[in-house]
Amino acid sequence: MSLTPKPESKPTFGAATRLVHAGRDPGAQHGFVNTPIYRGSTVLYPTYDAIKHRRGRYNYGTSATPTMDSLTDAWTELAGAAGTVVTPSGLSALTVALMAAVSAGDHLLVTDSAYRPTRQFCDGVLARFGVAVTYYDPTVGVGIAELMRPNTKAVLVEAPGSQSFEMQDIPAIAAVAHARGACVIMDNTWATPLLFPPHARGVDIAVEAGTKYLSGGSDLLIGLASANAAYYPALRRTFDHLAPCAGAEDIFLALRGMRTMALRLREHGRVGLEMARWFQARPEVLRVLHPGLPEDPGHDIWKRDFSGASGLFGVILKPVPEAAVAAMLDGLELFGMGFSWGGFESLVIPFDCTPYRTATQWAPGGPALRFHIGLEDVADLQADLDAGFARLRAAS
Ligand SMILES: *Cc1c(COP(=O)(O)O)cnc(C)c1O
Repeated sequence: MSLTPKPESKPTFGAATRLVHAGRDPGAQHGFVNTPIYRGSTVLYPTYDAIKHRRGRYNYGTSATPTMDSLTDAWTELAGAAGTVVTPSGLSALTVALMAAVSAGDHLLVTDSAYRPTRQFCDGVLARFGVAVTYYDPTVGVGIAELMRPNTKAVLVEAPGSQSFEMQDIPAIAAVAHARGACVIMDNTWATPLLFPPHARGVDIAVEAGTKYLSGGSDLLIGLASANAAYYPALRRTFDHLAPCAGAEDIFLALRGMRTMALRLREHGRVGLEMARWFQARPEVLRVLHPGLPEDPGHDIWKRDFSGASGLFGVILKPVPEAAVAAMLDGLELFGMGFSWGGFESLVIPFDCTPYRTATQWAPGGPALRFHIGLEDVADLQADLDAGFARLRAAS
């Protein structure tokens, strides 16, 4: 096989094709398929003139390496963005995005359903730097207009919401925000650009915790923030000032995972929906929080704006003593109990949004569980949960 030239970016390619081909340049890697791990701080210049004028694609390891470029180029293409930065965690990508969009004296609107550490950054850091933060009802839609102030510079959206799974009308919120000159930042971790193309739907800066579906293996932490042409310069500048550089090995692993992400996500989505329906039919279950279910209050928005679901959803149990929930979870063999998700293995966590919600009341009507459905056989997962529900009933 001859060395393939870097394929030109063709907007006609489907998302799965872009996932496989984007960000690779075998011709620059002696024909090898993948960009290798470039570890490096120092970049050597051949001449006095070259170093004086910084002539060369790479200048120093904090700003860019070929490995970093492979991931950010691919993500830019996949997300339909003007540019992307890669950071060492999903949370750090969110903090860079927020710091790119707001300054002292500005006002920031944040959905009440935001990932909890995002709230903690807003309240614990942005507030200290003079940014006023208001939380809003995730289902606000065009009603966001009433919350906008003259100094509102950014609106943070997340859909479906972390843990609680409310859908948000992002195009409607974006239309209002843009009319007022505000930036729309989205945590798009659940859907990824494969299921929700953020920038085509009005999002200015989109964040992905690559820790979840890029990794696919619960074995790395990485974050991506992509932006449209209006906001990429500010995002890039903020990234350069803060220098939150991801490790070369983690970037390499994220790229490796990204190539098969469409395939895994399709299966997580299919099995996730199958399991969500199975939970719906259980007598112990009050309701299931999954926008892919026709009964879900966010279903119409999901159907309009998203092209699929990932494998993460919520289950509200009918009221039982806490000890019964503990008995159910403690004996599970296939569902691990732990934070994060997006890996090949199924997970469950108990959750409660009551302590930190401020704009809306979280009153689901019973104990809440969040499930991530992995790639195991569905029959085995159901048998594990059958036994769990038997323990729950015995302890009720
Ligand atoms: C996990 C997660 C993050 C943060 O990602 P980390 O890599 O763990 O920092 C952000 N948002 C959502 C919705 C997440 O699930």
